[in-house]
Amino acid sequence: MSHRDTRQPPTRSPVREFHPRARAALDNPQIRRNFRNAMDGLKDKRRAAFEGMDLEALRELGANIRRNALARLPDLLEQLEKNLIANGVQVHWAEDGEQACRIVRDICVARGAKRVIKGKSMVSEEMELNHYLEEQGIEALESDLGEYLVQMAGETPSHIIMPAIHKNTGEISELMHEKTGTARSDNVEYLTASARRQLREKFMAADVGISGVNFAVAETGTLCLVENEGNGRMTTTVPPCHIAVTGIEKVVPSLEDASALLALLTRSATGQHITTYFNMISAPRQQDELDGPEEVHLVLVDNGRSTIYQDDELLDTLRCIRCGACMNHCPVYTRIGGHAYGTTYPGPIGKILMPHLLGLEETQDFPSASSLCGACGEVCPVKIPIPDLLVRLRRESVDGDHLHPPQVQGHGSKKKPLERLALAARKARCLPDRHRSGSALAPASTGQNGSLDPHPHGPETGQ
Ligand code: SF4
Repeated sequence: MSHRDTRQPPTRSPVREFHPRARAALDNPQIRRNFRNAMDGLKDKRRAAFEGMDLEALRELGANIRRNALARLPDLLEQLEKNLIANGVQVHWAEDGEQACRIVRDICVARGAKRVIKGKSMVSEEMELNHYLEEQGIEALESDLGEYLVQMAGETPSHIIMPAIHKNTGEISELMHEKTGTARSDNVEYLTASARRQLREKFMAADVGISGVNFAVAETGTLCLVENEGNGRMTTTVPPCHIAVTGIEKVVPSLEDASALLALLTRSATGQHITTYFNMISAPRQQDELDGPEEVHLVLVDNGRSTIYQDDELLDTLRCIRCGACMNHCPVYTRIGGHAYGTTYPGPIGKILMPHLLGLEETQDFPSASSLCGACGEVCPVKIPIPDLLVRLRRESVDGDHLHPPQVQGHGSKKKPLERLALAARKARCLPDRHRSGSALAPASTGQNGSLDPHPHGPETGQ
């Protein structure tokens, strides 16, 4: 088996090199094979997972839940903060990635922490947290298997839910042999067990565990974490201190909302009815409990999101639940892979999100790197109109948009995040009904007490 070098630099490289990187990926048959095989498999699994269900009704439900949450974002964030504090969780607000990194560092320094173990978190990728911590003399080790491998290779993730999807088994075996002395093997179970053994020691020695958040539930002050490997649970329970980092848009009103989104997320992402682990964290360890951290922190990261929030079209971008389905179905992404983009979020979601995080000048080739086939919009579980947004950004990238004054990155940044959101929410109240639906439940099926029923065709096991 040939092992062409697919390594990428550990830090993000300038996005303007998108074209040469895409060209190089197209010329690399190994990368193309790895992506096509993986993406075709994910597409088949997704299709099978939704079989027999009213997918359109579910997508409408998901979209309404996210629209409703965004319409009430400032209030929900306040409610979340209040309930988390009442539960004993310490809440921090970060205007950008740099501030978020400093907050994490300060917590580590206050505890004398030297070793951090991390669960999967795209926001921490956005912040380039590992780099920052290493510079501060704090070891940060990824524990998600895919993240562990790309960190070992000195690369960045190439997919938002499958970070090492660009590597096949042979390449992984070679990498583990080179870096950890693991015997070469094409047996996936053997390689996984070897990584598990190496990571287990690191969990026991870690001073702090850092995780992402899939849904932050305002009414109960609960942080929900979806994962398959158990590393998320280890990260959040074994070290004496847990720091969760998340974008401010991840808040949802209720546990029922989180449950309906979970059903959409797992099916859309990996074709699973439910993931192996679903962690719900509401408080640090209580006096009568044997497990869990003594301290729990949540860092709420803005990093350009409140600017997106002020645009009545681009606001839809914030509905994203990071399932990756748009990437798996994109004829561009599936051929060039994630590293060609050079950004934290690649593929269709990256093309509509990164222009706000980095500026359109830096990402000017993204909106036009699309055939506008519409596949991304059709599979998105929360119905983000990605092709429409790409057209909007194309217009802006060429000659500005006269209908929608461009939202400058950093606009209103002197205000505190909640002040900026409150201002933007006043504007949102003037938006069409779709942005201020009183109930997320209106067009989809509901169970007793208004709870969400994600299975219109009857209950399924494992949910
Ligand atoms: S844009 Fe939609 S399909 Fe793409 S990652 Fe986000 S939720 Fe999933």
